[in-house]
Amino acid sequence: MASSDKPETKGQPGIASAALFGCCPACGEKTLFEGMLKFAPTCRLCALDYGHFNVGDGPAAFLTLIVGGLITVMAIVVDQAFNPPFWVHMLLWIPITAIAVIWALRVGKAALLAIEYRRRAGEGREKGK
Ligand SMILES: [Zn+2]
Repeated sequence: MASSDKPETKGQPGIASAALFGCCPACGEKTLFEGMLKFAPTCRLCALDYGHFNVGDGPAAFLTLIVGGLITVMAIVVDQAFNPPFWVHMLLWIPITAIAVIWALRVGKAALLAIEYRRRAGEGREKGK
């Protein structure tokens, strides 16, 4: 995308920053998440209704596969390089896997919501208030 044809995204965060920091796609405040993985019902600042977006758990399987693949490769590399006892693998990879999956899910869900928001905004569909 050329930087010259900027759509009306004034005050809106980019999809990447919205995804990474859990920003509201409308006002850019970090209000998207209520807990670790749960979206807040609405934006605390601009009252955008997050429940309106049907992101669901679409990215879950996909992201889990990617994270699982990456961690398997890392585990094999570590095993080949250092040949640690099995409990070291347990201690290392179980928490890393959990953190990586949660982080990837957060980013994935926030990215989907931001993209969905932009698509709707682009189509000019007005939400009744
Ligand atoms: Zn907002």
